[in-house]
Formats: sequence, structure tokens, C-alpha cells
Amino acid sequence: MILLDRVSKVYPKSRRPALDKVSLNVAPGEFVIVMGRSGAGKSTILKLLNREERPTSGKIVVGGIDYDDLRPKDIPHLRRRIGVVFQDYKLLPNRTVFENVAFAMEISGMTKQEINYNVPKILEIVGLADKASEFPRHLSGGEMQRVAIARAMVRQPKILIADEPTANLDEETSLEIVKLLIKINHYGTTVLMITHDTNIVKKLRHRVVKIAVGRIVSDTKGLVRNAK
Ligand code: ADP
Ligand code: MG
Repeated sequence: MILLDRVSKVYPKSRRPALDKVSLNVAPGEFVIVMGRSGAGKSTILKLLNREERPTSGKIVVGGIDYDDLRPKDIPHLRRRIGVVFQDYKLLPNRTVFENVAFAMEISGMTKQEINYNVPKILEIVGLADKASEFPRHLSGGEMQRVAIARAMVRQPKILIADEPTANLDEETSLEIVKLLIKINHYGTTVLMITHDTNIVKKLRHRVVKIAVGRIVSDTKGLVRNAK
């Protein structure tokens, strides 16, 4: 599903690579935690997968699409396959919860019928059915993140990448958001959850890829974690 083969990224004017020969293979349907401290290179992985940035060297293949073969006109299609959520939610303040989610469908050309069918369904899944007509300023942080997740999921991407989705949330709310991501994963979406929060990671039994100064330093795939 996601393949990085010796991917390096050196940003212009920087001396040290943000990523240094990173190789990673994520199978369809996996839930993978990408963990590392600030500056480790986590968001750079997202930017490469989303084609916001291009690697300096190495190969990227996602869902059978080799990024070396991508043409500009393929990029909207690629971005529809990859849903993204961020720590700061990025909601439109003057639109309701329903409209925030609907907007993502409008810009990808879906019909009003499709929107009116799909938005309530996804709001139900994320637990916000009763908040559809609220504005973001009336929501808690956890609810805002649920809207952002609904918006990312409504176009039914194959992959969901969450870049520090719990960074602005308290511990209990963070865990609820992680549980929602796990639920989405159980519906079949491949999930990459980026985090620096070691507390959350300890509570989970999923694959953890640890990255430090641009390199993968451990990957629990294939290991039995916490076996007793
Ligand atoms: P993380 O998400 O793990 O905090 P990033 O991937 O954002 O780390 O950044 C990795 C490294 O690359 C950091 O040293 C950061 O300063 C640098 N970096 C990130 N984006 C840019 C950019 N656009 N230009 C130059 N350097 C950047
Ligand atoms: Mg980051």
C-alpha cells in the first residue's frame, strides 16, 4: 500500500537531511504509529506521501502508483486517496459542522444528493450526529478533531494520515480520538498516526515505527510487543 525505499529529503538551504534513507512498507489495512520527537522528520513523511514535497532521492510507491511517474494532473486523484488530519483541525470557522464536511465533497465534484447521503453517515460514525448544525467555535477540541476526521474520511480515502492529531488535546480526549482512528482502520482504511506522545503509544498494541533525526531507529513489526 505504502512503500518508501531509501527515501531521503534534504530541504533547500539545509545541511542535514530531514529524512535519511528511510525505508518503510505498510500493508493495506495496517494501523501504524510513526513516533518521534519534534524535528525527527515525521511531517516530512506526510508531505512526501501527499506530494507537497518531493524526495531528494529514493522511491515512493503508494497503492501501486510510482511517484516518479506522477503527472501534475494525477495529483488531485492521489490526494483523494489520502485523507489527512492535523493537530490544529483547520476547520472553516464560518461553516457549520455539516458544511465543513460537505465542503470537502463539493470541491471534489460530488452531487448534492451524494453529499446529503454521505455527510450524516460519516457524522454518525465520528459521533457528531447531534452537532451537525453547530459552528466550530461552539465545539470542544475533541469534537473539532472529529469534524476534521469526518472531513478527511467523507471522500473515502484508502489511506488516512493523522499528523499529531492529539497534540492539542488532554489525555482522555486524545485516547478517544485514537479509538476513533482505530475504528476507521477496522472499516478498512490504512491508518498512519504520527505522534510524539509516548503515553498514548504505551496504551496501544499497534505497530510502532520510531524515527529519530531522519532515520527509522526501530519498527515493532514482526515483534511480539509486551509478551508476558
Ligand atoms: P517533525 O514533524 O518530526 O517535527 P519535520 O518533518 O517537520 O519534523 O522536520 C524535520 C526537519 O526538517 C526539521 O529539522 C525541520 O526544521 C526541517 N524542515 C521541515 N520543513 C522544512 C522546510 N520547508 N524547509 C527547511 N527545513 C525544513
Ligand atoms: Mg511534525
